[in-house]
Amino acid sequence: MLERYPFTRVLSTEERARLRERVILFLHEKSIVGAGGLVVRDGMRMSIAAQACMLILNLDLEYYRGWVEVIVYPDEFVAEYDYVDEDGIAHHVEAPMTGESWLEGPVILSWADAELRGEEPGYNVVIHEFAHKLDMLNGDANGFPPLHPGMDREAWPRAFGAAYDDFCRRVARGEPSAIDAYAAEHPSEFFAVLSEAFFETPAAVRAEYRDVYRQLAAFYRQDPAARQERQGGQS
Ligand SMILES: [Zn+2]
Repeated sequence: MLERYPFTRVLSTEERARLRERVILFLHEKSIVGAGGLVVRDGMRMSIAAQACMLILNLDLEYYRGWVEVIVYPDEFVAEYDYVDEDGIAHHVEAPMTGESWLEGPVILSWADAELRGEEPGYNVVIHEFAHKLDMLNGDANGFPPLHPGMDREAWPRAFGAAYDDFCRRVARGEPSAIDAYAAEHPSEFFAVLSEAFFETPAAVRAEYRDVYRQLAAFYRQDPAARQERQGGQS
């Protein structure tokens, strides 16, 4: 299992042991259930837990407090919701989704999309949705998770704000980037997509947005680019 992902393959012996501990706790505290006819096998459970626990490898399971369920669909699922717009008009939306995270509610994943990782470097729906969970620890998803004591509260919005504006401009101009254009949707999506890339293709994040990389490294308490260099990994 730990040989499967570019970010777990390069872990040190000590980090692997810690990831295993986190996975055991995660599987003890969370329930991973199938929906839409999917039967969740042990391997799927392990795979989801291992990826989810990469984000909290140097934090702890408390970061996933306040909810218990991970719901897994076989493929894209349809999210249905109602909302009232600024003009007071009610809308009913049905949208196909690859993943979804509810505030103080479940994480919902499409297994087909969770399995896609590896085909598109930097794409990881499990890391994406669990990053939203961390973002939502202090309320709505806004790209500003609770920072650790000692982290500069101004450096985060400065780094992310500048990078987000720059990225949106580049996407609008059609400039190439190693980062998925979906990051331009909203600051919360920028944080989730940059978190995917931080673990999957860290050198690319460091090269394009060094200040954001530094903030993510301080928040996750990990330096995946250095880890890949140390292990001579080229993924
Ligand atoms: Zn998202």
